[in-house]
Amino acid sequence: IEPDKPCIAICAGIACLGLGNDRVISAFEEEIRKQSLETKVDIRATGCHGFCEKGPIVVIYPEEICYLEVTPEDVPEIISQTVVGKKVIDRLIYTDPNTGAKAVHQFEIPFYKNQSRLLIGNNPKINPKSIEDYLAIGGYSALAKALFAMNPEQVLEEIKKANLRGRGGGGFPAGSKWETTRNAPGEEKYVIVNAHEGEPGAFMDRALFTGNPHLVLEGLIIGAYTIGSHQGFIYTRHDTPQLRENIDIALSEAKEYGLLGENILGSGFNFNVEVHLDVGIFVSGESSALMRSIEGKSPEPRPKYIRTSVSGIWNKPSNLNNVETWANVPQIINNGSKWYSSIGTERSKGTKLISLSGNICNTGVVEVPMGTSLKEIIYNFGGGIPNGKKLKAVHFGGPMGGSIPESLIDSPLDFDVLSKLGTSLGAGDMLVLDEDNCMVETARYFLDFLSGESCGKCVPCREGIRQMLKTLTDITDGKGKEGDIELLEEIAGVVGEAALCSLGRSVPKPLLSMLKYFRDEYEAHIKEKR
Ligand code: SF4
Repeated sequence: IEPDKPCIAICAGIACLGLGNDRVISAFEEEIRKQSLETKVDIRATGCHGFCEKGPIVVIYPEEICYLEVTPEDVPEIISQTVVGKKVIDRLIYTDPNTGAKAVHQFEIPFYKNQSRLLIGNNPKINPKSIEDYLAIGGYSALAKALFAMNPEQVLEEIKKANLRGRGGGGFPAGSKWETTRNAPGEEKYVIVNAHEGEPGAFMDRALFTGNPHLVLEGLIIGAYTIGSHQGFIYTRHDTPQLRENIDIALSEAKEYGLLGENILGSGFNFNVEVHLDVGIFVSGESSALMRSIEGKSPEPRPKYIRTSVSGIWNKPSNLNNVETWANVPQIINNGSKWYSSIGTERSKGTKLISLSGNICNTGVVEVPMGTSLKEIIYNFGGGIPNGKKLKAVHFGGPMGGSIPESLIDSPLDFDVLSKLGTSLGAGDMLVLDEDNCMVETARYFLDFLSGESCGKCVPCREGIRQMLKTLTDITDGKGKEGDIELLEEIAGVVGEAALCSLGRSVPKPLLSMLKYFRDEYEAHIKEKR
C-alpha cells in the first residue's frame, strides 16, 4: 500500500463472498474505469478481515476508513465522496448498537480494537494471490534467516523454547513432535499441513490460509528444513474451491521465485509440496486417516501404537500440524522464542485464532493472546448476546469438544485450564449458547452429526454413538425414562475408553461436559415427560 495513493481493499474472504463481495468488487472496477481513475487508485481483493458479521467489508487506505455491509449501490458514492473527496460516509461506518458511538477507522471498531492480530492482521492489506504483496510485508524473511543464518538444530531449539503448542486441538508441543520425526530412522520424511477443518463452527484456518497462503507455506518450508523432509503435503477439503485456488497460486508463485523445488534460494535444500483433497468425510481430518487418504486409501483411522510422527505416510516418519501451527513458525524465527514466549500464559504461548459463532452479536474470526478471558472475547470482541438474552454456555471444539457454563466465563483461554474444566480449546471454534438453547438438544445435535461421520470401523464408536443418539432423541422427544442419564454415562465411558481413534474417544465429551454442568436440564426433560 503506497502512502500517497488511495487503495481500496475489499475483503475477499469466504464469508464476504457469500454476502456478495464479488458484485462489490466488480462495481468498484467499473466505477474506477468510469471515472478514469485507473492510474490514481489501487484496488485489491484481500484476505479475510475477520468481521464476518458485517461483510462485505471495504477499507480505504492510507486513512484506513472502514465501511461495513457495503453493497454495489454504495460504490459510486464511496469513490466520489471518500476516495476522491476524502469525506467519510456516515451511514457506512461502524455504529455501536448500544451506545451509538461511531468508529471511522478499522482499528477503532470494538471488534478489532485490542485484538493481537499477529497472524491474521496482514490479511486486509494483501492480495492472497500475489507473492509480491507477501514479500512487501517481509514475507519469506524468516525462511531466508533459517536457511542462511541458522542450522536445523538451531531452528528446532527456537521452536521448542517458544513452546509452540499445536493449534489443531491436542495442544501437543510442536517442537517435540518435529524432533520425533527428525530423529526417526529413515531418510524419507514428510511434513503435512492439515487444512481439513471439518467441525461445524470452525472457520479460522480457512480465513487464515485463504487470506495469506504464503505465511503457512513459509512455516511449512522452515519445518521441512528443520525436520529433514523434502516432500510436503497440504490436505484440504474438496468443497472450498477458493482456498484450493489460492493454495495452487501460492505454490506456483513460490516455485517461480525459487522458494520451492531444487536448491531453494541457492541454499542446497530441496523441497516440494503436493495438494491432496479429502473425500468429504469428517474423520479424514484425523491424523492416521488423513495419511491413509494421502496414500490413496480409504480414510480410516488406524490404532496409533506407533505414532504417525515415526510411521505415517507409507510408514515413513510424517509430521502433521494444522494451518495455524505452521503459520506461527515464521514470526518465531523472525522475532525469537523469547519474544514469542512473552505472549500468553505460563503454558499456553502466543496468540490464538477463535472463530466466534452462535448466539453472539459479532460472528467472525478473532485473534487474541492466550490467557484472554472468555468474557472479554464474548463481550468486548463479540459484542455480547443479541436481543438482551442471557449467556448460558460456551462450547469449544464442536462435536469433539465440551461446554462450560456462564459462571466460568472469567476463565482464561488456555489449553490446560479449559481441559481441567471438562472442555478443550479444540482448534479454536467457540460456539456461544444463550438462555434459549437446550443443552440436551445441543448434545443430540453433535451426536447426530457424528453418527453420519464415524467411519464405523470399531464397535464402541459405531454402536456407542447410535445408542447415545437414540437415548438422547428419546429424551428430547418426551420418551425419556429414569436411568437414561446413568445409561448415557455408562456408554460414554466405554466409548471414551475403547474407541480406536481420537474422533471416537472424543465423541462423549460434549455430552459429559453438559451432564457435568447442566444435569438439571436433562433431569427436567425426563421428569416433565413422565
Ligand atoms: Fe472409525 Fe469411530 Fe473407530 Fe475412529 S473410533 S476408527 S471414527 S469407528
